[in-house]
Amino acid sequence: MPAAQRTGPLLDASSDEQRDPVSPPTRPLTDGHLQVARVFHGTTAEGPGLRTAVWFQGCSIQCKGCINPHLFNPRGGTRTPIAELVEQAVAAGVEGLTLIGGEPFDQPVSGAALASTAQERGLGVIAFSGYEYESLLDRDDDTKAFLAATDLLVDGPYQAETRKPTAPWWAPATNASSISPNDTKRTNPRP
Ligand code: SF4
Repeated sequence: MPAAQRTGPLLDASSDEQRDPVSPPTRPLTDGHLQVARVFHGTTAEGPGLRTAVWFQGCSIQCKGCINPHLFNPRGGTRTPIAELVEQAVAAGVEGLTLIGGEPFDQPVSGAALASTAQERGLGVIAFSGYEYESLLDRDDDTKAFLAATDLLVDGPYQAETRKPTAPWWAPATNASSISPNDTKRTNPRP
């Protein structure tokens, strides 16, 4: 998936949080590492096309029925160099990254660095989050930088009872929705 065209403002320009969401951060994003549970290069099961899937370690949401409770602990997993991970993805010939978890937005600094580095290398970025898009917009600049470097966000908490059994496992539960943060178009909108 190519990087999305940024066709409109992410934020309400009249809000207190007024800033250009695609501006580079004014300080270093990270020490260059990400806490990762697993990386798999070349999967077709984590979104459209051939992708690198990155399972973030740690999740503070802890949805009922989550299939990955072993990813809850933020002190688990492996400290992984972001640049090295992206170069491995490029070498694997994938068209993009899928960021899953765990909760990617529990590591906003490292997540933003990973997503922006991937985009700079021509990779698309899909991120899954148990947080809703609107709540992420109310967060810090690192979270907004992460959103700005995300081509497609699948947002909302997991609810096992509303999941479609015939859907691919990477498809969001029906309570979740997909949104392109840079043009703010949401599919499967909530009522
Ligand atoms: S946000 Fe994702 S990883 Fe976290 S508890 Fe919910 S389903 Fe599990």
